[in-house]
Amino acid sequence: MEFDKIRIENLEIYAYHGVFPDENEKGQKFFLNAILYTHTRKAGKSDDLTLSTNYGEVCEFMNTYVTGRVCKLLETVAEGLAEAVLLKFPHVAKLLLEIRKPDAPIAIPFESVSVQIERGWHTAYIAFGSNMGNRDKYIEEAIRKIKEHALCNATQVSSILRTEPYGGQAEGEFLNGVLEMKTLLPPEELLEVLNQIEAEAGRERTVHWGSRTLDLDILLYDEEVISTPKLTIPHIDMENRDFVLEPLCEIAPFIRHPITHKTIKQILDELKATQETYAIK
Ligand code: ATP
Ligand code: CA
Ligand code: CA
Repeated sequence: MEFDKIRIENLEIYAYHGVFPDENEKGQKFFLNAILYTHTRKAGKSDDLTLSTNYGEVCEFMNTYVTGRVCKLLETVAEGLAEAVLLKFPHVAKLLLEIRKPDAPIAIPFESVSVQIERGWHTAYIAFGSNMGNRDKYIEEAIRKIKEHALCNATQVSSILRTEPYGGQAEGEFLNGVLEMKTLLPPEELLEVLNQIEAEAGRERTVHWGSRTLDLDILLYDEEVISTPKLTIPHIDMENRDFVLEPLCEIAPFIRHPITHKTIKQILDELKATQETYAIK
């Protein structure tokens, strides 16, 4: 759905950010422009401010944030402020933020310099699996750690399935499931967080598809398509795995694969029609 926008223009803030000591001591004017991407329909129909975002509060919050610290870079101020606004105001899904410094120390005449960034909440689907040790505990801990991470939140968790190992390299029944999460982390940083949680569960990478205490794979991240040496999104083999599609279909049957544009339900039904044996017990 298209977003509605709440716009803040040229909010003037006196602060002390800059690379030069002089800037940190004397300070200067900064101007902030922001577009808050949100849905105003409910507030618009009810005239109830609690259903929208109070732009006065946002302005006060931004002023407190920008005056409350001293950074060298506009980039740092913008990054921290965007994150703080998204964490503080729950109806804001995305934020376009520009910080302008019209009196920056540049010897040549100029009008203004600025940094502009866009940040927002993303939806990711994570497959989890375990076939070694205290499997329930590893999975429970992983979900708890994701919920407790400041920049992530688990929004739905599927039932947990018992499945036969996939790929012929592992021994021992798996517990598998999928969770939906909201996150402010970009995909590479999300993978680092997941790898860290795996490491804390004592995960060792010896044999590909081998036995593991905990495996966390990113299946989908918004509608993004990513192919780098470290990361393939959508997960490269998800269409062929009933133990991934079944729990994903339980929590999100009608989202679409960004390459084939088929719904998860369609992909699962097609796999079931062609597959002779089922890993799921
Ligand atoms: P599979 O990826 O086929 O399920 P696996 O989970 O057993 O196999 P791992 O040893 O856990 O494989 O991961 C190997 C590498 O895969 C990781 O180091 C990671 O960089 C990379 N990788 C690529 N795409 C993804 C993704 N979408 N989610 C998680 N890891 C990924
Ligand atoms: Ca995997
Ligand atoms: Ca993995």
